[in-house]
Amino acid sequence: MHETRFINEIFAILKEKLAKEKGVEQVTVNVRLSPFSHVGAESLQGSFKELIKGESFRKVNLKILPLEILLECKSCKRSTRINKRIFACPFCHSVDINIQMDKEFFVESMEIER
Ligand SMILES: [Zn+2]
Repeated sequence: MHETRFINEIFAILKEKLAKEKGVEQVTVNVRLSPFSHVGAESLQGSFKELIKGESFRKVNLKILPLEILLECKSCKRSTRINKRIFACPFCHSVDINIQMDKEFFVESMEIER
């Protein structure tokens, strides 16, 4: 399950971060999820809510933001950043495109409230 891998990544960062902090009331974790990931934002959110029950953290909000990825068109040679699933060049509508797939998920930042 990919969700679990992402969530473990979040938990590992939370553990490291919260070990040094005191009096934390609430944490917001901002993550970026690629629109091309086979993990959907909803299922990630759902799994997160389930799995966090087994952890000792206080209130943690998960904020899932779209990850912008690079689309390069081999026909018109233009490139752009996209944050939703598209399968053709937005300029010339060619399907001969290259989409950056190596980045799927990352933890962007963490906001701690006291
Ligand atoms: Zn194009």
